Amino acid sequence: MPVSAQVNISRMLGQQAERVMALGEWEERWQQDRIGFHQPTVHRMLEKNLDKVLNGRTGVRFFFPLCGKAIDMKWLADQGHSVVGVEISEKGIQQFFEENNMTFSEEPVPEIPGAKVFRNPEKNISLYQCDLFQFSSSIAGRFGAIWDRGSLVAINPKDREKYAALIVSLMDNDCRYLLDTFLYNPDQYRGPPFFVPDEQVRSLFGSSCNVELLQSVDALTDRQRDWGLDSFMENIHLITLKNSSATK
Ligand code: SAH
Repeated sequence: MPVSAQVNISRMLGQQAERVMALGEWEERWQQDRIGFHQPTVHRMLEKNLDKVLNGRTGVRFFFPLCGKAIDMKWLADQGHSVVGVEISEKGIQQFFEENNMTFSEEPVPEIPGAKVFRNPEKNISLYQCDLFQFSSSIAGRFGAIWDRGSLVAINPKDREKYAALIVSLMDNDCRYLLDTFLYNPDQYRGPPFFVPDEQVRSLFGSSCNVELLQSVDALTDRQRDWGLDSFMENIHLITLKNSSATK
């Protein structure tokens, strides 16, 4: 990459580097129903790329970091996969089960003070109500697939290295990790979702993983125009551990 392009990317990343959304701000958004990120239908990028994620496997354990009440979780569970999600908003988790007509149990999580896990055993869905950074493989093991939509792009930019290390630690040897990111001009909008260039995806995951850009689509709608953006690209990456069986 030319030096001028590198300088430009660093400058663009610098625009949002200090942005911080406290956990309480996210909970407040849920309390006030300001959840414009929630989609009423299965995410088109998941639908389009599911074959690549499954790679012929059935009954895959999916991890949803920062899961919200994404209906993608029910869609995958209906296909016989199991789902573990992590979300700070208890309201969001309860709405997920209620809106999908599922009963749920509620238990404390001994390893994480104050955390709770909400489960529907018939559908094999377990949603942990806690800060993602309190979660680890000692709580629910490692995963065969990860769907990262509104997660890397939603955590605070300064936490990205910590986030990548956590996600890699949750990947089973054959894990196929589908990551959705956004490209836009951070001079025009401060996020979230935050701007995550492909160069940074490679620098975050490239030392331990293969990173493949599957698709790049124009995703500009009135929602982004209202934020002040005139361009908004959505990129989808497939990430697998180096030397793993998932790449074969
Ligand atoms: N993936 C979901 C939600 C994306 S919005 C979807 O596609 O709809 C980001 C979500 O992460 C919000 O619901 C917010 O409450 C939650 N969140 C933000 N930071 C978090 C953290 N550190 N730990 C757990 N949840 C968090």
